[in-house]
Amino acid sequence: MLPADYHTHNYLCRHAEGTLAEYAQNAILNGVAEIGFSDHSPMPQDGYDDWRMLLSQLPEYLSMAEEAKAKFPDFPIRVGLEVDYLPEQEDWIRDLAQRYPWDYLIGSVHYLGSWDIDNPAKIQIWHQSDVNEVWKRYFEVLTRAAASGLFNIIGHADLPKKFNFRPTCDCTTSYRAFLKAAAKTQTAIEINTAGWDKDCHEAYPGMEILRLAYLEGVPLTFGSDSHAPVHVGKYFDKAILLAKQAGYTHSVRFCRRKATSHELPE
Ligand SMILES: [Zn+2]
Ligand SMILES: [Zn+2]
Repeated sequence: MLPADYHTHNYLCRHAEGTLAEYAQNAILNGVAEIGFSDHSPMPQDGYDDWRMLLSQLPEYLSMAEEAKAKFPDFPIRVGLEVDYLPEQEDWIRDLAQRYPWDYLIGSVHYLGSWDIDNPAKIQIWHQSDVNEVWKRYFEVLTRAAASGLFNIIGHADLPKKFNFRPTCDCTTSYRAFLKAAAKTQTAIEINTAGWDKDCHEAYPGMEILRLAYLEGVPLTFGSDSHAPVHVGKYFDKAILLAKQAGYTHSVRFCRRKATSHELPE
C-alpha cells in the first residue's frame, strides 16, 4: 500500500481534468492508502488569475467531494485545499479555513508579488531576474507561510527549480530558516512527485532540503500534484525511497486537521 496522496486537482481549477470521484477511483486502482483533494483555493476576488476555482464554485467542490465519498464509502477520502500563501492574505486564509471542516490545508507559494513563478506563460520574467535573488525571496515568503501556523502542509518547497533556474549561491541558510519555522509549528512538507516530469527532473524538494527537514523534525506527506486522475500516486515508489534515504521512517496523515503518524511501506 502506497502512502496517502494529498495533492490532487480537478476540472474546477481550469487547467486540470476529472471529477473528484475519478481521482478517488484512480487512488484505489493505483494502491494509495488515502486520497486527499486539494484544489487551488479561490481568491477573495475572482479574476486574480485563471488557474483556480471561483469563490462561487466552493460549494460545487464540496458537493463533488461528498459524491466521491458516497461512491467509495470504504475508502478514506480527505478534503482540503491548496491555498496560495500571500503574506497580505492571512486574514483571507483564516476566513477560508473556517468555511468547512477541512482535513488539511496545503500552503503553497506560487506568487512573489504579482509574479506566479511557476507559470510557463511568464517564463520570460525568469530570464530577466537575478535567480539567486528569486530563490532567496521565495524562501523568505515560504518561511513566513510555515511560521504562520495556518497550514498543515507546505507544498512543493523548492518550486523555483521547476524550469531549472538553479541558484549558484549556497541557500542552506534560507532552507534551514524555513525548516526551523516548519518544525516549530509542526507544519509538514510534502514530497511532490510532479517535479519528476518538469524541466528540473527531480521531486520537490530535492535531497538537500529533505535531509535537513528530517534532521529538524519536520513531518512528511506525499503528493502527486495530479492534474489528471491517472496520475494519482505517480512515482510514489521512487518517493518512498527518497524519503528513506533522507532518514524518514514515517509519514503523516490528517483528519480534521489532526495528524497521525504512519510507517513507510517496505
Ligand atoms: Zn495546478
Ligand atoms: Zn502548487
